[in-house]
Amino acid sequence: MLVNLKEILSQAENARYAVGCFNTPNPETIQAVIAAAEEEQLPVILAHAQSMDPPALLEEIAPAMLRSARRASVPVCVHLDHGRDWRYVSRAMDLGFTSVMFDLSDKPFEENAAEIQKLCQIAHDRQITVEAELGLLTAAPAPATASIPATESTAQSPSSASGSAAQPPSTASDSPAAPPSSAPSVSYTDPLQAARFARLTGVDALTVCFGTAHGQYKLPPRLDIDRVHQIRRQLDACCRIVMHGASGVDDAQIRAAIEAGVSKINYYSGISRGCSQHIYSRLTQCGGNMHWHAVHQEALQFMKRHAQEKIRLFAGRQPKEI
Ligand SMILES: [Zn+2]
Repeated sequence: MLVNLKEILSQAENARYAVGCFNTPNPETIQAVIAAAEEEQLPVILAHAQSMDPPALLEEIAPAMLRSARRASVPVCVHLDHGRDWRYVSRAMDLGFTSVMFDLSDKPFEENAAEIQKLCQIAHDRQITVEAELGLLTAAPAPATASIPATESTAQSPSSASGSAAQPPSTASDSPAAPPSSAPSVSYTDPLQAARFARLTGVDALTVCFGTAHGQYKLPPRLDIDRVHQIRRQLDACCRIVMHGASGVDDAQIRAAIEAGVSKINYYSGISRGCSQHIYSRLTQCGGNMHWHAVHQEALQFMKRHAQEKIRLFAGRQPKEI
């Protein structure tokens, strides 16, 4: 069943779990994520990132996401991830997305707040929820081998953040990028500013920066969990906290972030790169002698297992052999 963020995140926060948000740029990924959520009987979020268009064209992927969400036996939110301009965000809303993120985190606070306030007025009239970002999760260029532009999978946080981000930030990407000198104190979300932002805008969910990075970490990240506690204490009760860049963060820190108040977790890099590595190894084993539809099936099964593991983790369930 198709729902917006509000319905699933308030329930999640009350029960101290987080809902997984996965980018679904193709039919196999959509099918894998829905199947994983249905097996766990937990809500899930299908996300489409503007930076993945192309190759995943909004008008083509949206009907597939929405159809699958409506047919699902669990609540599913269809969400725009890192929308970068009004036109694109409006197109997503017109197509039936139940939630949109408008990422203006690289703009000054007042500009970010004014635009999000305007969007909330329009979106809320249509029962569409809004996510914004405060602080700065920067982006790195797509790896040389990848053809998909930077998004949850390839963006990076400031290299100075906890000294843990994978690569130096770059302005070459189409995602928001911090100047190389950006210090954690500048990039991390300020709890009082977050509270003011939520009050000014009426935003439903806020991505906060506390040490996570998009993409792959070179060193294990160390998250500022106390900052999440502080943000939760300051923030209006109806505004939910979102964590991006969960791939590569250890389970204990993910659980600690949820306990501190995170109720939506964006996860993509691990599932996407993990799947590529899995397919590479399967194709190597059989000398490439595999039908293309079997490759798709193999990918689907891998992504379902991986998504299910993460959905269980976010829900506080024990790992199990899947
Ligand atoms: Zn993100």
